[in-house]
This record gives sequence, structure tokens and C-alpha cells, in this order.
Amino acid sequence: MLLEVRDLQVQFRMREGISRAVNGVSYAVDKGETLAVLGESGSGKSVTAQAVMGILDSPPGRITGGEILFQGENLLTMPEKKRRTVRGAQMAMIFQDALSSLNPVLSVGDQLGEMFVVHRGMSKKDARARAVELMDRVRIPAAKERVRQYPHQFSGGMRQRIMIAMALALEPALIIADEPTTALDVTVQAQVMELLAELQRELRMGLILITHDLGVVADVADRIAVMYAGRIVESAPVHDIYRAPAHPYTKGLLESIPRLDQKGQELYAIKGLPPNLMHIPPGCAFHPRCPRAQEVCVREEPPLHRVSAGRGSACHFWKETLDDAAR
Ligand code: SF4
Ligand code: MG
Repeated sequence: MLLEVRDLQVQFRMREGISRAVNGVSYAVDKGETLAVLGESGSGKSVTAQAVMGILDSPPGRITGGEILFQGENLLTMPEKKRRTVRGAQMAMIFQDALSSLNPVLSVGDQLGEMFVVHRGMSKKDARARAVELMDRVRIPAAKERVRQYPHQFSGGMRQRIMIAMALALEPALIIADEPTTALDVTVQAQVMELLAELQRELRMGLILITHDLGVVADVADRIAVMYAGRIVESAPVHDIYRAPAHPYTKGLLESIPRLDQKGQELYAIKGLPPNLMHIPPGCAFHPRCPRAQEVCVREEPPLHRVSAGRGSACHFWKETLDDAAR
């Protein structure tokens, strides 16, 4: 397995108390595989990724339990120097907001080239040539000329392609993309997502795609992990989820996807708000918002029930939910 997160726990120590951002998350992604991690903001999907990337290693965030295995080795206990090498060379992250991730006063060619100068010891001239190659690869037209331009001279979609190029530069084994297309227009979103999926297949990378939008993952993900209040509430192969969700929260997310054939129809949105992570509701954390909630849901936290091979649901009533969907 390329990456395996086991029972991860992350807390933030705030002035008002402890915010439990990640509460026992386990997931895995292999080479050549795409895992979509889905959930509303505050579900812990980004925080889990930040723990993997090691950009959470300082206060107020703290990993309080679990393991993060990269190619079988626990990143959390390996010597600092090795850990830095693994994260620097084997993993890369793509963020939502390219404009704030890119340096505004350096040309994109210099920024891309710098990766090769610093990490591969290339000359400036060779690094520039590689930068042009990369820009071609992410299909930026006229790369040879545009390599001299600055980030603000590119459209949002093109900037996101540059971010993808930066992530690919050192040929990492794993890419984590956190809402990579959220800031873009719908049509540009689809193009960027397609490009990312295509490169992932071509280079046989592992890809973790973090999103709040179930609509963007159908064609690109192999598996989906749905998060709520710092836990995985459903985990399944992508087609299973679309055919019939086994968790009421997943069902709500599916029903919130805008559909072109239902223009004008009001979208079902899950009522209420995600919980405050300093005061997670007892029992099933989703119970205050769940249309199916019973008394047991307030009392007992549902374990991740095995629904079928490779599929789990943390709902006391997963069978009923599944049956409903099949009807
Ligand atoms: Fe809803 Fe209960 Fe299932 Fe939680 S355990 S999702 S409250 S039915
Ligand atoms: Mg986020």
C-alpha cells in the first residue's frame, strides 16, 4: 500500500477548549488509485491531509494518536531527516487557491525551474527547458513564450494547471489535491479535473482528492471516503455509493448535487450545520441533522459496519438506508 492512515486523531488546543478535528480516521490509497475524501467544511478532510503532509506539526494542531504509513513506514516515528525527504520528494499537494500559493513576483518559469535547481541540481538553463516541458504537459498553450509570464497574467484555470505542474515536477508517488477546482467556473473545473485524472493514470500516482462536491468525483475516483465531524461515516467503491448510499449523510450529499436535467427544481440540502468540534454531539454525531435518527442514535456511537467487501457505513440503520435507496 502506498499510503495508509490508521486511526488518526488530531486536536487543536484553542483558548475555549479542545477542538477534536480528526477522531480515528483510517483510509488507504495505492499506486494508480484515486481516493476521494468528501465532506462539508470542518469535517476533518483537510486536516487529515495536512497531517499526512506534515504541515500541521506545530501548535495549536497536534496529532494525538494513530499512524501514517507511507510505503509501510510510519511517518510519525521515522527520523526527521528521512521524513522530510519522503514528504519533499514523494508527496505533493495542490491547493484551491493558486494565486496565493504561487509567488507573484517570480515568473512561472522561474518557479517551476526552481524545483529542478534546488532538488535536482540542474543548471538554470536546463531547469527552464524542463519548466516548458511541464507546462506543455499540463496543456498550457504557447508554453515557450508564457514561461516568462507572471501568475497574475494567467486565468484561474491556467494557474491551477501551473499548480498541477509544480506538484508533478519531482514525480511524486502521491498527490493530495485539496478542493483543486472549487474556485473555478464549472466548465473549467471539468477540464482541470480531467487533466488531473489523466496525469494520475499516466504516471500511476496515488491521488487523494479532497472535495465537498460529490458531483466532481464520479468520473475520476475509485473509492470514496465520506467524513463527518472528524470521522469516516461511509467508505466504498465509487459506483456503490452512487448506486445506493448506505449512510443518511451520504444520501443527503448525493441529493444536493445540482443536476442539469432538473434545472429550476429546488435542491435538497442537508438541514442544519456541521457540529462545533469542541462539542461534538454524543452517539452518532450526525443525529441532530439526520432524518432517520432514533433514540439509539443519541445514545450509541455507531461503529463502521461492514456493508460488503471494501465497504463500510457508520450508521445503526445502514441496512434500511441501503434498502430505501434501492427502492
Ligand atoms: Fe442517522 Fe442514526 Fe444513522 Fe446516525 S446512526 S446516521 S443518526 S440513523
Ligand atoms: Mg478544507
